[in-house]
Amino acid sequence: MAMLELHDVHTFYGSIEALKGISLTVEEGEVVALLGGNGAGKSTTLRTISGLLRPRQGDVRFGGRSIVGRPPEEIVKLGIVQVPEGRRIFGPLTVEENLEMGAFLARGQKARIQEDMARVYDMFPRLRERRHQLAGTLSGGEQQMLAVGRALMARPRLLMLDEPSMGLAPNLVQFIMQTVREINRQGVTVLVVEQNARSALRLATRAYVIETGSVTLEGPANELARNDQVVAAYLGGR
Ligand code: ATP
Repeated sequence: MAMLELHDVHTFYGSIEALKGISLTVEEGEVVALLGGNGAGKSTTLRTISGLLRPRQGDVRFGGRSIVGRPPEEIVKLGIVQVPEGRRIFGPLTVEENLEMGAFLARGQKARIQEDMARVYDMFPRLRERRHQLAGTLSGGEQQMLAVGRALMARPRLLMLDEPSMGLAPNLVQFIMQTVREINRQGVTVLVVEQNARSALRLATRAYVIETGSVTLEGPANELARNDQVVAAYLGGR
């Protein structure tokens, strides 16, 4: 049984059908990438999984059980944690306070929170150095690290990342991708949305291409990286 399964998911914004029957699976331990252009429906797919949007038709199953209609906080408790697009950290709070917010499931469990925080700081030493700094004053790359770190504080089983490389310098993109690989190596399954298809296909084991609300291609990442259509549309025609 797959960890996550979407069956024929249709999601609307009012009368606009943003997802027109998406089906996909994520197996435990995988890194799966969702590729596609602007407005294809990648973010909508993640937001449907995390319970922020409710599909009008179709099913989302996690560990074999339908999670459609459950409130987002319950879905987080099941182990699905999303790093939203644009980072959405709390600017007026310090780095450390942001991480504490991510540990809301462990409220009151001081030792566990300290342990998880130490793990995040080991992964991102820059955050340790800046732990008393206001998050709003961090660089873009540091804010992305903080957003990932905050998600890890909830001890995800499935980590969903929406455009983690957006707006970052190439060396930082590489660092974030390496970190995601390390998080996966530590046992967290990953579903990542990326417009940067090149980085995403290097990171992922499998990928889906989404166009105007439908899956148009899917397969092992190394095969998609050689697929003519993918090369032409998403890898700059090389
Ligand atoms: P991007 O990378 O630009 O975020 P995406 O693949 O993630 O693209 P979505 O954000 O999922 O695409 O958008 C899918 C479709 O739904 C688009 O046509 C978009 O215009 C529409 N859409 C997204 N959010 C809303 C909203 N809040 N209200 C109405 N339509 C929306």
